[in-house]
Amino acid sequence: MSGATTDTEREAGAADTVRTVLLPTDGSEGAEAAVAHAVSLAQTYGATIHVLAVADTKSYGTFTTGGAGTVISALEGRCREHVAATRELIADLTSDDPDSPAVETAVVRGFPAEEILRYAEEHDADLLVMGTHGRTGVGRVLLGSVTERVVRRARIPVVTVRQSET
Ligand code: ATP
Ligand code: MN
Repeated sequence: MSGATTDTEREAGAADTVRTVLLPTDGSEGAEAAVAHAVSLAQTYGATIHVLAVADTKSYGTFTTGGAGTVISALEGRCREHVAATRELIADLTSDDPDSPAVETAVVRGFPAEEILRYAEEHDADLLVMGTHGRTGVGRVLLGSVTERVVRRARIPVVTVRQSET
């Protein structure tokens, strides 16, 4: 945000500007719905977009030691595809913009909400943009569990985007 900082903004800890937008993705259509919003916010502020996919350790926790390595590599491989696809989507959306936002991608292992929050802290993210739903995508719940955890605990604003039903 430009211009003078008001007392209210200072008290609320509002950022002077947005330099880093964190866009977590699980490769779902629900996550994809957030991409255009992350792009337009990044364009507005001249921010960098960080695309993050977390290889969910919960989903291979039940495998034996012998099989776990293979499962982890497969999950990480899929995460790399998700961040690459999101990077492409961003490139498509910004192909007309001579000043298109810089994009960084990352794949980490762990519990998704935990890792998203950690990444946001470590990279000093100013804004999180994510889907209300992800791979599970049960429309009757207000928010998926990853987004709910992030919204509850994030120290920065979280923009949640619902996939359109058409
Ligand atoms: P649930 O996982 O609770 O069964 P869901 O899959 O519909 O339900 P979430 O997992 O909360 O909902 O997904 C909501 C958003 O959270 C996604 O659109 C994406 O932005 C983010 N997200 C979910 N999982 C991951 C992940 N493993 N890595 C990065 N971002 C994720
Ligand atoms: Mn999910």
